[in-house]
Amino acid sequence: MVKNISNKNETQQILRKFGFTFKKSLGQNFLIDSNLLNKIVHAAEIDHTIGVIEIGPGIGALTQKLAERAGKVVAIEIDQRLIPILEETLTDYQNITFIHGDVLKLDLKQIISKEFKNYSSIKVVANLPYYVTSPIIIKLLEEKLEINSITVMIQKEVAERISAKPSTKEYNSLTLLMEYYAESKVLFNIPKTVFIPKPNVDSSLLQLKIRDIPPVKVDDESLLFKIIKASFAQRRKTLFNNLLHNLINKKNKKELEEILQDVNIEAERRAETLSLHEFAILTNQIKKNSEKLMKS
Ligand code: SAM
Repeated sequence: MVKNISNKNETQQILRKFGFTFKKSLGQNFLIDSNLLNKIVHAAEIDHTIGVIEIGPGIGALTQKLAERAGKVVAIEIDQRLIPILEETLTDYQNITFIHGDVLKLDLKQIISKEFKNYSSIKVVANLPYYVTSPIIIKLLEEKLEINSITVMIQKEVAERISAKPSTKEYNSLTLLMEYYAESKVLFNIPKTVFIPKPNVDSSLLQLKIRDIPPVKVDDESLLFKIIKASFAQRRKTLFNNLLHNLINKKNKKELEEILQDVNIEAERRAETLSLHEFAILTNQIKKNSEKLMKS
């Protein structure tokens, strides 16, 4: 029987055996609670028909649990020192492939088509490094990968921002981007005590179920995201002022006023009060009124 590596004693033994020291800069906080790991795998709904991508396996606590249930696990780890540890510790599992690299730089489309030929359902499950949580999730969504869901442990505050409702202080451009691509849910919170070393922040398990089609129809997706970004540039400014300072050519002030009137959005509103639906209507109207409105 293969040893369960997700407990404090076993983790410490592995770290000692390989003389491994944590790199704070890589967000290395390893999970040491077997029950919690089971809960994560259960929440992600993993079975032998599923291919899993894990980002940042560390010494493999979550990887092991995933490999016990999934058809195949591809684990991407940036820290070269961890690869021989993973290969030795999880040597008994034939269904794991380790890839050394920075997930932000790798061609994930190519990895998926090469590694998951016989899988129709692919899921991402990870305890993400907190210093790059948002860029990683954005990359997974924007590249429109063939994945069904993303179940990740992340910093509690970031999870709250991603799943926020309009007119709350957590609602921001990231919330809207996520809503466009996925349905998000915070499944549960996680105490600091289940990691070594203990992080400074609280954590949550976030689940994003990727949508087949976006919930709004826009003629120009990249314009939608430009408008959202510009509108939130300075939270205390009005929508009108943010758009005028960050996106629309100032000489077209009048035209912008008219556009907002046409779509029934008051110029004095703040971006945080607009729904994704309203941003979509605004985007289509700006697009319709020609590109000369934009800043050069
Ligand atoms: N999955 C392990 C666990 O739960 O115990 C470790 C999680 S730890 C929070 C994050 C892991 O991600 C570390 O092993 C770290 O080296 C790795 N990592 C950090 N940045 C990365 C990146 N850009 N690409 C891939 N892995 C990364």
